[in-house]
Amino acid sequence: MKAHSSRVGVFVRIRPTAHFSQDHIECLPDGQTVNIHHRKDSRKPQDSTKNQLSSWSFRLAGILQNVSQEELYARVCRRVVLGALDGYNGTLMCFGQTGAGKTYTMTGSTESYKQRGIIPRALQEVFQEMDKRTEYTFSVHLSYLEIYNETLVDLLSSLQGSPQLSPRGMVVVEEPGRGVFIRGLSLHPVHSEEEALNLLFEGEMNRIIGSHALNRSSSRSHCIFTVHIESHSRTLSVAKYVTSKLNLVDLAGSERLGKTWSEGQMLKEAMYINKSLSFLEQAILALADRRRDHVPFRQSKLTHALKDSLGGNCNTVLVANIYGEAAQIEETLSTLRFASRMMCV
Ligand code: ADP
Ligand code: MG
Repeated sequence: MKAHSSRVGVFVRIRPTAHFSQDHIECLPDGQTVNIHHRKDSRKPQDSTKNQLSSWSFRLAGILQNVSQEELYARVCRRVVLGALDGYNGTLMCFGQTGAGKTYTMTGSTESYKQRGIIPRALQEVFQEMDKRTEYTFSVHLSYLEIYNETLVDLLSSLQGSPQLSPRGMVVVEEPGRGVFIRGLSLHPVHSEEEALNLLFEGEMNRIIGSHALNRSSSRSHCIFTVHIESHSRTLSVAKYVTSKLNLVDLAGSERLGKTWSEGQMLKEAMYINKSLSFLEQAILALADRRRDHVPFRQSKLTHALKDSLGGNCNTVLVANIYGEAAQIEETLSTLRFASRMMCV
């Protein structure tokens, strides 16, 4: 990986909704500010705060409202994908409450070509770009990791004939010269966009099958699709390899503990998710301080796995997915608060 400096870019994507109301979410013409207005609608006559209007304002790198998949990719992702081909590690992450559009943004809908998300578009661009850069030889490998309750799952393991979705004692390890990698996670060589898309599809199927088998929702885990790129200059006589990683991350739903979630498996899942998101925040904020030695990467599998792909020397983009509906105000505010704390970086 090469070294350069860049900030964390945080964008907000508002999910289109039939009930979208400008009274609730107001996007300012600067394209970077979103105001949330909420009129407290209390039925209790003695409540003096009845009809009191509250407003919050958030400024991010960009507010994406009614933005197509293509436009989102061009505005937010292309730079990171091209950076990875130039040798810079990159991470694109979606976060927000369940249903707000993270998976739509990251993977997209299979319903139509136009609705392809970030991952298929990134794969297309990687292969097109490699064809253009004839002065280099490239090799590309893919991996697809799921993190559920701090357990690592290989979403592409079934391809190697090993038992499907069994956590094969995978561990996050660091080696000088190689950086951070997951021992036990399968890496698959791919030579074309089509081959890569087939693997993505395979991984998506395993994600769904696995969550059914374990009787849980796939939105309770973090998924990291990684494109490992190695390039070698044809023109330089010295054999010099540059390696980089492009991590495309669909984070677990960030919704907080609710009354309906008060027990058992749900509680456990929610606690793991809350913890790992808060460690992610701590890691990103600590990176901003340029005190890399003190960054608490090892506190969770997510931050440990992304250790050499976040912050200072890497291109990091977060997309905060929110609903447009007033009914989701609490989660929307919580997502936007998280987003704007990252923006300070
Ligand atoms: P999440 O992964 O955050 O739980 P999903 O991506 O599964 O949410 O989105 C929930 C539903 O909303 C899906 O049916 C998805 O297709 C739809 N959806 C989300 N965002 C958009 C969008 N920007 N445009 C059209 N449909 C969307
Ligand atoms: Mg999802």
